[in-house]
Amino acid sequence: MAVEKTFVMVKPEAVMRGLVGNVLGRFERAGLKIVAMKLKKAAPEEVNGFYPSDEVWLGKVGDKTLKRSKDLGIDVTKRFGTSDNVTIGKEIKKWLVDFISSSPVVLIVLEGNNAIEKVRKMAGYTDPIDADPGSIRADFAQESIDWANFDARAVYNVIHASGEPEEAEREINHWFTKDEIFKYDNAFDMVMGRLKK
Ligand code: ATP
Ligand code: MG
Repeated sequence: MAVEKTFVMVKPEAVMRGLVGNVLGRFERAGLKIVAMKLKKAAPEEVNGFYPSDEVWLGKVGDKTLKRSKDLGIDVTKRFGTSDNVTIGKEIKKWLVDFISSSPVVLIVLEGNNAIEKVRKMAGYTDPIDADPGSIRADFAQESIDWANFDARAVYNVIHASGEPEEAEREINHWFTKDEIFKYDNAFDMVMGRLKK
């Protein structure tokens, strides 16, 4: 058993649509513990520093547009003026910062057995149209990357979830101080149905 903490953000469109309870309910039902949570309208600089700026990450973001455009036979240069993944990623990051700072988000730290991978699987693939049925992004979004890019915005995909342990640690520290994170003495005894002796 690997007890991990992971960071989840309920994004502005999902907060406005009243989906916080539904999303949180799924995580609670799966036995994940909420150890920190707050509602916040984040400043653009804070969001800009939260998402990476390195070329590897920007390139991966751009690749998602290239993949979706290829699947649909869309000419990506018509929208972005280039087919370079990093340049496209930079443009999308600007849209993402505008979007995430536009209205309050709910910031959450969840704790549980193998929590990082578990939450990522429950979230599903970035692009809701390609996310597996049953995942949060598939079940709560009528949205796709091509549609978002056509409207010059980031894709509305309900939540953010940390992808790996270093990312989780960095993201938790970005939004929370140490004393804002609750430490249960017997959380996992409770989850496993074992009462404290
Ligand atoms: P997250 O980090 O939000 O959990 P992820 O790891 O699946 O999602 P990333 O590649 O880290 O996705 O992208 C961060 C966010 O940027 C995505 O959740 C999405 O809202 C937005 N995004 C990423 N790629 C694109 C794209 N090609 N077009 C539009 N928006 C995008
Ligand atoms: Mg990510």
